[in-house]
Amino acid sequence: MPGDVSVLFVMLDATRADRLSAWGNPHPTTPTLDGLARAGALFRRHFANSHATRPSFPQLMTGRYYFQNVLRAFTPNEHPREFPFSQGDPTAAFVPAVLRGQGFETLGVSAHPWFVSASDLGRHFDRLELVAAEATRGYADARDVAERARAVWLARDASRPVFLYVHFMDMHMPRYLPDGEPRFPVAGYDWRRRFKPSGEPLFHPERRRWLRADARDFGELDRRHFAAVYDSRLAHTDAQLARLLAAVRAEDPDLRRTLVIVASDHGEELGEDGRTDHTDSLADGVQHVPWIVAGAGVAAGQACDRFTENIDIAPTLLELLGILLPEGTRMDGRAQLGRDGRLASRAGKPAVYYAWESYRAIRTRRYLLRENVAGSFAARSDGEVVLYRLDGAARVRLALEGRAAGVAGRLRARLDRRLARRRARFLRARYEAARTPFLVRAEFWRVAPETRVSSVPVGPATGRRALRVRGWLWAGHGVTVLRPGDGTPLPVTLSAPDGVYEVEAAVRPIQPMPRLLGFGRWCRESFSSESATVYVALGAARAVGGELSVAIPAAAATGRHIVALRLSPPGSVAEAAAEPGPEDEELRVRLQALGYVE
Ligand SMILES: [Zn+2]
Repeated sequence: MPGDVSVLFVMLDATRADRLSAWGNPHPTTPTLDGLARAGALFRRHFANSHATRPSFPQLMTGRYYFQNVLRAFTPNEHPREFPFSQGDPTAAFVPAVLRGQGFETLGVSAHPWFVSASDLGRHFDRLELVAAEATRGYADARDVAERARAVWLARDASRPVFLYVHFMDMHMPRYLPDGEPRFPVAGYDWRRRFKPSGEPLFHPERRRWLRADARDFGELDRRHFAAVYDSRLAHTDAQLARLLAAVRAEDPDLRRTLVIVASDHGEELGEDGRTDHTDSLADGVQHVPWIVAGAGVAAGQACDRFTENIDIAPTLLELLGILLPEGTRMDGRAQLGRDGRLASRAGKPAVYYAWESYRAIRTRRYLLRENVAGSFAARSDGEVVLYRLDGAARVRLALEGRAAGVAGRLRARLDRRLARRRARFLRARYEAARTPFLVRAEFWRVAPETRVSSVPVGPATGRRALRVRGWLWAGHGVTVLRPGDGTPLPVTLSAPDGVYEVEAAVRPIQPMPRLLGFGRWCRESFSSESATVYVALGAARAVGGELSVAIPAAAATGRHIVALRLSPPGSVAEAAAEPGPEDEELRVRLQALGYVE
């Protein structure tokens, strides 16, 4: 049927599967999506391959575990996936690019300020619109997104197939209540005393200044209300989606010529386990997401109970349209529906995999095994290998001994088989030579196992006593020396394109610790921020084979919090920060509303 089938791709940002009624939420949140699932195929155990928008998008759109950032760069000189000297992979194929090559008109309507036409992904669209919204709200409401998408659909070039991508943000913070009150209120609970209209807690703001996702102080009713707000946003989005689908069905009532795909880039924790948002906890709330495929001959009433992953979406879409991958390109995922619209004979998998810069993980029915990068501070603080047994909604961390050690060994071997070669290939080819200075944050450094560093991630509950350590101290975002130790330098290794660099420590000066009052404030001012204010020269160093090693002198860390190393290739100068214009200011307010910047 290729040639006359169009595609409607619905992206529900930050949507976790178990809040849809089709996935068992007792609140009737998603009658439209439930109906769509009945008309096609629903993948009950579907998982995102990473925890956030930025890592997830390349996975969704290329069907690959490993890829550079493809959205609007967020911190272009500060994140290994966004450095300006990152280069694309010629063996990767983007869904909109493949479809455009097949004669599709490729259109997008987006509420996400990162998903824009100037991005690596955006340039594969003939037109990609960012729907306007009040900056303080962060993103456009589903009503405006659906309305715009409807207009774009109706105005499409009817002489050829169209790929219309629609990105909803309503399940992302901030979450204002569409009707002023939750649709599924918690009886006897006065939410206005506990939460702002934007959905953020009013209580203990100082705790949230350390980590926005910290919900360890939520009570049971707080959690239920928090989830009810989320459900209200989901129900609102579902109702708007109904209007968009009605426009599609007005011309194509049985969706014979329209393939509809509903997917999500990641979920959202709702206070269970003491967290909100979508951190890299890799909990099911963040990773378990909906996937629905309907129309274009997909047989009704199908459900897949085995595991599937976001990297399967692109190959499935192409298979259903009968489109082959361009020569020389490949995907890691596999088509889960055949060209006949039925679940593939080998549909589903025994496990799903998560991959990002700082972790890789495998989730099976009974276990979640996470690997932190060997030598990283995360591995030092939390362990290089973390194994959980999954017990329904709960997960229990297991000590790596006895039977659990055997389980961990086998799961690590599976992780290796699936990801090791792919990761190595990605790391080898991802950069060209650097021409501008860039920061490598402490979270991406590796230190040798014998190096002595005390690990004290500083937070709202940290006391004076915990900081009474001598020598090198990892404080959660960076390193410091609060009390002199034996004076040995800190040897660190990091990834960088080969070449010679001037190396500087990017630091925040630390005031002397107050003797009496103001300890909490001093902690926050010293350790909660990741942005440097001063750069301390450490000399030149050469990266060889993609690795650069530096010994940071203890003196450089005394009275300072080192949050990163800045590497400058010869002859480059750090660009003076341009005077921010009104557009930058608007973007800043928007990103602040989304919780991405302080
Ligand atoms: Zn997202």
